[in-house]
Formats: sequence, C-alpha cells, structure tokens
Amino acid sequence: MAKMRAVQIAQANGPFEIVEREIPQPGVGDVRIKVQACGICHSDFLTKEGRWPGIRYPRVPGHEIAGIIDDVGAGVVGWSAGQRAGVGWHGGHCGHCNSCRRGDFVTCLIAPQVPGISYDGGYADYMIAPAGALALIPDELPAVEAAPIMCAGITTFNALRNSGARAGDVVAIVGIGGLGHLGIQFAAKMGFHTIAVARGATKEPLAKKLGAQIYIDSQAQDVAAELLKLGGAKVILATATSGKAMTATLGGLGVNGKLIVVGAPADPLEVPAGLLIGGRHAIMGWPSGSSIDSQDTMAFSAWTGVRSMNEVFPLDRAAEGYDRMMSGDARFRVVLTTGS
Ligand SMILES: [Zn+2]
Ligand SMILES: [Zn+2]
Repeated sequence: MAKMRAVQIAQANGPFEIVEREIPQPGVGDVRIKVQACGICHSDFLTKEGRWPGIRYPRVPGHEIAGIIDDVGAGVVGWSAGQRAGVGWHGGHCGHCNSCRRGDFVTCLIAPQVPGISYDGGYADYMIAPAGALALIPDELPAVEAAPIMCAGITTFNALRNSGARAGDVVAIVGIGGLGHLGIQFAAKMGFHTIAVARGATKEPLAKKLGAQIYIDSQAQDVAAELLKLGGAKVILATATSGKAMTATLGGLGVNGKLIVVGAPADPLEVPAGLLIGGRHAIMGWPSGSSIDSQDTMAFSAWTGVRSMNEVFPLDRAAEGYDRMMSGDARFRVVLTTGS
C-alpha cells in the first residue's frame, strides 16, 4: 500500500503528530484529493483542543483545502481525476433534513460535516471528500491562493453579497486580519463605499491599498460618529476578535443597517436594546456557504484580483504554522503546502 504523510491530533489538546498512513480510497460518492495547499484557520482550534461536541480522534485538521482530484469513487457524477478542486468548511450534508430539502445545505440540521472535524481534513498529502463538497478552482488561482478562499474568503464574500447592501452603500469592515483583509477587498470590488475600521494609525496604508476609501482608527476616533458622518453604514461586517469593538460600532448603523458577525470573539456582544429599535437595526451572523458559493468566491477572486495575503509553511511544520496563526501576528493567513 502506498503511504502518505498526515498531521494528526491524537487526543484533545494533544500535539500535532506527523504520521505515515495508507493513502485512503474514495468510497461511494467520494473523491480523493491530492492536497497541494491547506489553510490554517482559527477554527482548527476546535479540533486541536477538542471543543467540537462529539469529535473523535485521531483527527487530521484542515478545512481550507486546495488540490487535484486524483481518484473518483463509484457514483460520482460531474467530477473526474485531474480537475482542480477545493473543499471548505461545508464538507457535506445529510440531504434529507428540512434545511437540506430547502437547498440550504450549510445549515444542515442532521449531519453537517466539516473536514478536519467530522472526517480527516487537509493537513495531509491526500484526503477524501464527498463530491457535493467540491468547488472547482479556476486556472488563475494557484493552490496557495485558493486555499484561504475556501473559508476566510467565502465567509466574507458570501456575507457581503447576501447582506442587502447595494453598489455605493456604506459598508464598514471592522478588523484587518485574516477575514478583514479579504472583506475589504471584496467590499471594494463589489462597488460598496468601503470603510475600514481598525486599531491604530499604522494599518491605514494597508487598508487603503486593499481598497478602502476611508480608514477609521478606532483608538483615535469615535467609530460610530464617523460612520454617521457618512450617512450611516448599511452593513458593518464584524471580523474583529473583540465583542466590545463590535458593539462600539453599532451606533454607526444607518436606517435598516445591520451588523453582520463573522468573527467569533470570546467576550459577549452587549447591546443597548434601544439602539436597535429606532433605525430598525439588526444583528446577524453568517456561516460561510456551500460548495457552489466557494466556487463563486474563487471565480470572483480570479476576475477581480482579490487575493489573500499568506504566510506559507511546509506540511511538516504544521505545528509552527498553527502557533503562528494562534499568535494573531500572521499577515494574514497561514497556509500549509505539501510540495505536490
Ligand atoms: Zn475556517
Ligand atoms: Zn441536512
């Protein structure tokens, strides 16, 4: 049997272990992907620390996968060996729950599957995925650039395009990190009046380079007041790692404006309820999207030049890459490469 490298977690809070495993065979409805690149997402801590209810070990993390299909199981239609494919947070669904029957696969109620949590993910030379979770990677995107699009990219892109904001509307992106630096680019390319909000003056040049027309320094300026001067935000996309930073922006919403939460800070959102009523404001979350949404995100990125800024580590240095991501100092996503 041919062997491959995999980086596994043997138990909750265990170290990353580089192990040799047999190359897995695709079952009915599955394909095997020769992994070229896999992003390290903050959500990988769910696997590392055993925070996902019912997770079983050993488990190979990774849900920002980009590679090449190299074998196809029985019953797979529309995919063949040699195609470039990505797999993201949405890694499969039951197909028969009420959400799935409505075509809303990412909110599957019975068996939502996440690569790297429900089954082995992309920190490996090969991985198996259901065909329904595949997104076609366009020629213009190298694997290292495609991988972060599969979670950080789709989450910001899909939240923005479903937000109800229209071209010219004020859209503020709070936080310039792994999610935020992509959110700014997508918002600008979608034609929104794009406002970047972050702490300190040093991030302004980067924010402008990414496409923000206006930069608000949350340490030196009153974010809500600045947004109101622009007529109020139609959408505030909250990617920051602080609930306090998110709620501080709420007063800057325009009429019918909404705060869309895509980052998950540890501290709670504390909202003065009265603030929501007069201007019909809303707070909502947004969970990535399905495989076709990932494909749309990659195609849009290819057309418009939206790219993730990445720090790249070889697969063997996954532990180092993970620590780098967790440190919060990475600029901005960390991506593992297999050398394939
Ligand atoms: Zn993720
Ligand atoms: Zn379902």
